Amino acid sequence: MPTCHHCGSEYEASELTRHVVEDWLIVHCPDCHAPMGRYQSSQPAVDTLRQSE
Ligand SMILES: [Zn+2]
Repeated sequence: MPTCHHCGSEYEASELTRHVVEDWLIVHCPDCHAPMGRYQSSQPAVDTLRQSE
């Protein structure tokens, strides 16, 4: 369960505020709006792994 480093609250992943900016999925605390992580949403992870051989 993700914990906000700013206000110390714990949330379910589904409770977090999400924004999509270009290729990034950015996740915010729903209470204090501190950023809690970002993920590059457009890259399929499985294909990237196979290409590295
Ligand atoms: Zn917070």
